[in-house]
Amino acid sequence: MILPRSTIGVLGGGQLGRMFAMEAKRMGYRVWTLDPEPDSPCGQIADGQVQALFDDLDAAQELADRSDILTYEFENIVVAVVEALERGGKQVSPGSLALKIAQNRLLEKEFLRDHQIPVTDFYKIQSLQDIDAAREKIGFPSVLKTIFGGYDGKGQIVIQNQKEAEDAFQVLEEISGGKTLVWEKYVPFVKELGVICSRKKAGEAVTFPISENTHRENILHLSLVPARITQEVEARLIEIAKAIAGALNIVGTFCVETFLLKDGSVMVNEIAPRPHNCGHYTLDACVTSQFEQQLRAICDLPLGSTRLLSPVAMVNLLGEGTGNDLIGLEEALRDPHVKLHLYGKKEAKAKRKMGHLTVLAETVEEALDRVLSAHKKLRWG
Ligand code: AMP
Repeated sequence: MILPRSTIGVLGGGQLGRMFAMEAKRMGYRVWTLDPEPDSPCGQIADGQVQALFDDLDAAQELADRSDILTYEFENIVVAVVEALERGGKQVSPGSLALKIAQNRLLEKEFLRDHQIPVTDFYKIQSLQDIDAAREKIGFPSVLKTIFGGYDGKGQIVIQNQKEAEDAFQVLEEISGGKTLVWEKYVPFVKELGVICSRKKAGEAVTFPISENTHRENILHLSLVPARITQEVEARLIEIAKAIAGALNIVGTFCVETFLLKDGSVMVNEIAPRPHNCGHYTLDACVTSQFEQQLRAICDLPLGSTRLLSPVAMVNLLGEGTGNDLIGLEEALRDPHVKLHLYGKKEAKAKRKMGHLTVLAETVEEALDRVLSAHKKLRWG
């Protein structure tokens, strides 16, 4: 067991690291982080920050030397760096395997298929000829995606016909520097559902209440909990999350993003090997948050209860590129049930995740109404 007063090193200094650090500090741990940006969201809370790029092995080693164990909060951490730290005998949870699979959309889909976990049909694209083969095999509508650097809908284009496929191929080839792409059949989902799961080294795993997610321009906009789904769907999602946790030997908190189809079946969209935006509601609405659970899992403490205290709605606050001050706070907070979380980022660039709001209420519908009405009162100027 890694006890309080030990130091946890966090690779990545964004908001996930920040909320993890807040929970870890509350429980008496020390935190260091590594991030290229000075005064990063996590660095503002941590005991210290190594300021360096993610591929700087010496800097990662410095973080490791200062830490008893390590975790990461960002899936574009360089796998070779994590592998080198592991070879040096450091525990880096959830581990290099989960990172390697999750940051490569093709490996991820192959991994899921090979473990009999439902995923949409997909095809590896390396040339224009492969587009003909994928069109024959999978057809339209589909989504062409880069393999790396994918989160928040970055590097993906919906394609409806041959011309759009060829155009998307050119655009994505350029973005990815000529790397392999993946062609995925478009899933006509009725809902997107997120499952947050935490697992300990010995295999014990628990899930949080499933969240019903809405995206805007491929970025998470809203999470509603409890999700309005049947018990069968819930049970299937828990089973899938635990199967993934075991197959990837994950230690820590991770998320499985899924699609629910009209016939009640589910498909996995992606795995995020870290706490996730759709689990932010747990900070206000569960006995244990996803970040505290991450700490408990990686330190091998007993896992906490994931019981939901109340229906809840969460909405993201994205930057708008119109200024860095949040205007309308007084009006938004006039509803005393609104909880504000801001991540300490200086520049509210367009679509940047700056913070979120949560509201707990008697019903999920009421929580949704109240959180949206608070959200409407806010803007950046
Ligand atoms: P991703 O970055 O791959 O998680 O995709 C972001 C969002 O794009 C998802 O949450 C979905 O709303 C949408 N999306 C991605 N892939 C597909 C797909 N194969 N079919 C339908 N929608 C998709």
